[in-house]
Amino acid sequence: MNAPIPPGSVIEVADAVAAGRERAAEVCRAALARIAQIDPDVRAFLHVSADHARARATQLDSAIEAGRGGGALAGVPIAIKDNLCTRFAPTTAASRALEGFVPPYDATVVERLESAGALLVGKTNLDEFAMGSSTENSAFFPTHHPLDRGRVPGGSSGGSAAAVAAGMVPAALGSDTGGSVRQPAAFCGCVGLKPTYGRISRYGLIAYGSSLDQVGVLAGNVRDAARVLEVIAGPDARDATCSTHRPEAYSAAMTEELVSRRMAGLRLGVPREYFGEGLSDSVRRAVEAAIDKARRGGARVVDVSLPRARHSVAAYYVIATAEASSNLSRYDGVHYGVRRGAEAGIEALVRESRGAGFGAEVQRRIMLGTFALSAGYYDAYYAKALRVRRLLRDDFSAALREADVLISPTTPTTAFRLGEKLSDPLSMYLADVYTIAVNLAGLPAISIPCGADEAGLPIGLQLIAPALGESLLLQAARAFEQMLASAG
Ligand code: GLN
Repeated sequence: MNAPIPPGSVIEVADAVAAGRERAAEVCRAALARIAQIDPDVRAFLHVSADHARARATQLDSAIEAGRGGGALAGVPIAIKDNLCTRFAPTTAASRALEGFVPPYDATVVERLESAGALLVGKTNLDEFAMGSSTENSAFFPTHHPLDRGRVPGGSSGGSAAAVAAGMVPAALGSDTGGSVRQPAAFCGCVGLKPTYGRISRYGLIAYGSSLDQVGVLAGNVRDAARVLEVIAGPDARDATCSTHRPEAYSAAMTEELVSRRMAGLRLGVPREYFGEGLSDSVRRAVEAAIDKARRGGARVVDVSLPRARHSVAAYYVIATAEASSNLSRYDGVHYGVRRGAEAGIEALVRESRGAGFGAEVQRRIMLGTFALSAGYYDAYYAKALRVRRLLRDDFSAALREADVLISPTTPTTAFRLGEKLSDPLSMYLADVYTIAVNLAGLPAISIPCGADEAGLPIGLQLIAPALGESLLLQAARAFEQMLASAG
């Protein structure tokens, strides 16, 4: 195992560059050098945008020298999951269907990062159209776990998590439809934040399951994630589902004093369904030890129940695939990417282009979703899944009346081996048992590192808060982060 190289935190870099103590050009050079050194083994990036990042760094240095201020992310190298549209680099969603596609516009989050001074150094690998939990469904190549090249980094934001955990960038964006930010964060040993549905604009995020998709942040620590969140969150007229609530100053509110008082009296809800069958011993031990430590630190641990959570994976795979079957109908060989069979007429064009453009998992999902929505099955599957979703939200509301935040493992196991689950989709789907319900309920949640198993592989702990409760969530997560770092 190669120890990762510490990249310097988001906040340290931004504050040093904005104050003129460090030059963005130098930070950029160092990040590109780390990527060149580490990425040939890890393969987190589909595209490194070195020229673009260098040009932005030079512009930023001149602006700062001229006294024009640097922004909240001045000179911070950030990687972007390749399902977020960027004008400066191809955006493929790791699919042959979009190979070589360069969008004519930037996602809102991309625009906001750049306005805050961030240096966007490249596009990261993912499971094709964000469908998967290991990054092995990328049409191009799998990404490797930064601590053990024989293992997966998780997914679908596996490239972003690996880039952060390997010290190539201090932060990255991902997307989370059923766990795709939190699960790879847990596997790789970094922080993964999935905000409330609608907290961040989805404009320019390539749609998978539109009622579940949310942009998320991967970072080395909780305060860094908060800093990135406050830059990218907030109303956007270009996404009708984006909340009109203004974001709070999440990172500034995270003073040492507030955080040190946060644990005392915090009502910590432990959903008993998330500690049952399927949970590995090492993960259980680590999370239970963290709960005990929180109790000793003054938290009030309460037992809560999410009785409908056991139906969440089933409901998710009906709803997400139904939405995907509709969202992916636009890849027809006419508008984007690969085009095959045009000479044989429109039907052959669509059939052959989609056959050549989509990988096996994406085709499986489109067929599942089309089936679930078809006449005669709609009520039996889709309508029923929506009812389960409603009941699950009620379960969370009830649990969050008894507790301020809920705590659980992020994943049932630590990172598995490359290839281990490829022939068994159901076991791959179960990698998200603890994360999926949160998307169905639209709640904010975060995964933070919580020790390691016998093999030294990272373990993740998940905290879940009420809708738009990011402030509370981040403060609680920071309190846990400090508590877990302290001895005893
Ligand atoms: N692994 C889940 C899926 O394959 C979640 C993916 C995601 O959050 N994008 O659908």
